[in-house]
Amino acid sequence: MDMQISRQQTAGGASGHLTIDLGALRDNYLTLAAMAPASQTAAVVKADAYGLGADIVSQTLFEAGCRNFFVAHIDEALALRLRLSAEARIFVLNGLQPGNETSCAAMAVTPVLNSLQQIAQWSGHAKKLGKTLTAAVQIDTGMCRLGLSPEELEILSAQPQLLDGIDIAFVMSHLACADEPDHVSNGAQLAVMRKAATAFPETPVCFSNSGGIFLGNDYHNALLRPGIALYGGAPSAANPNPMKPVVRLDLAVIQTRTVPAGSLVGYGGSFTASGPTRLATIAAGYADGLPRSLSNRGAAWCNGVRLPIAGRVSMDSIILDISALPEGALTQGSLVQMIGPDQTLEEIAEDAGTIAYEILTGLGRRYRRSYIQPGMSPATASTSVNHK
Ligand SMILES: *Cc1c(COP(=O)(O)O)cnc(C)c1O
Repeated sequence: MDMQISRQQTAGGASGHLTIDLGALRDNYLTLAAMAPASQTAAVVKADAYGLGADIVSQTLFEAGCRNFFVAHIDEALALRLRLSAEARIFVLNGLQPGNETSCAAMAVTPVLNSLQQIAQWSGHAKKLGKTLTAAVQIDTGMCRLGLSPEELEILSAQPQLLDGIDIAFVMSHLACADEPDHVSNGAQLAVMRKAATAFPETPVCFSNSGGIFLGNDYHNALLRPGIALYGGAPSAANPNPMKPVVRLDLAVIQTRTVPAGSLVGYGGSFTASGPTRLATIAAGYADGLPRSLSNRGAAWCNGVRLPIAGRVSMDSIILDISALPEGALTQGSLVQMIGPDQTLEEIAEDAGTIAYEILTGLGRRYRRSYIQPGMSPATASTSVNHK
């Protein structure tokens, strides 16, 4: 029998077990890095490394050779800075917000400068300190979210002194449709990026997220910037997922019952038992990141058997129709699988009408978390430290 299943067949009092495989995380990093041997590979660890724990994820990737880390907010960067080696560079994707110059410079956090205004702020601060300060400069190549507009780029090219005191580590941009390999925007954004890069002839380019890495060598440049693929998510909607799964979620059964035909199940009575039905209530709901949109749509799994969600997802619990299992197969304290070999992240996301990113970043804080260290067998994972 699969060690991982036997280890987690009973809940041990927990509402659920969230298992994060750091070996798979490391392998995914090395797989992406090997796709572009001439490039460096960064890691996007915003939103607590997509919900998996920014400190332990970043440390694991640092040990795998990663030296560039991207977060969204300054506070994420400052927290990570305290944990990570000074050799690691930490970029703030959301840009330099007014008032953050001092802490960025003092803590060696590298802002992504998204406008001429932000460039002026950073250059002004460098002059004030009498130092050169590092930054990335982001160009909007067609997503219309963050970065210098074409007009701003023209002004910057004509007036290079605007960058006085700034050492540009990377010029970067972000693809809007990288998970759709045939989308016309990919090539269009690449062309704009190439032209923009001519304004910074000496500066390395950082362009591709997970999906972009799979668009081919043209998209690789100096630094890759993957997020979701590190965490086992599919980089492309069009192709089979080549990444190793990193996350497994097993949930505890807290009560079982058999109800007669005609019984109304859950809030609003939105599910009616069509015959005698065996039900199991499990200990997680929308407060734990299992969206309410899974009501009467999604499922959990047990040994390859699909157990449909019956009725609405509640805040702290979900009712499953377990009639497909032999009687007594599940009892209080048994575990069912929500994310794992039987149900991928993408599958549960699709049932919920969302994307893997939202499922990961919403993963609840009430699960018992364990981390499988690289090189450790899954059977010993429960001895690793709980996080948070
Ligand atoms: C989130 C983000 C990434 C990572 O994207 P994935 O699709 O998760 O690989 C890269 N770059 C920027 C600017 C981002 O906001």
